[in-house]
Amino acid sequence: MVKTFQHYLGSECHRTYSCVHCRAHLAGHTDLISKSFQGSQGRAYLFNEVVNVDSGIPQERLLLTGMHAVSDIHCKCCKTTLGWKYERAYENSQKYKEGKFIIELIHMIKDNGWS
Ligand SMILES: [Zn+2]
Repeated sequence: MVKTFQHYLGSECHRTYSCVHCRAHLAGHTDLISKSFQGSQGRAYLFNEVVNVDSGIPQERLLLTGMHAVSDIHCKCCKTTLGWKYERAYENSQKYKEGKFIIELIHMIKDNGWS
C-alpha cells in the first residue's frame, strides 16, 4: 500500500478547495460559511471545517470586527501560511466565528474546474 501524505475529502464532496501551492485538499464546498471576509492579502473565505492544516499559537489580534484570539494556520504539506483560525471572539456578535477557519483566496484553487 502506498501511504498517502494528505487527507482526502470524501467522494460525496467533489467540490473541494485545494492548496494552490501543493494541491492538498483544504475544505469542501459544503463547509463554506461565508465568502465576504477580508484577509491581509485580499479576499478570504470562512469555513466550518478544514483539513491538512496545522495551527500555530493563539494570539490576540485587533481585527476590523473587534478583538479576537486567532492562530495562524499552515498547510501541512507545503507549510504555507494560509489564513487563521478564530479561537475566541470577544464581541457577542462575532461569537459565531469561534472555532472557524479563514483561508485567503490567493492560497486556494477549486478542484475539478467547478465555478
Ligand atoms: Zn500546500
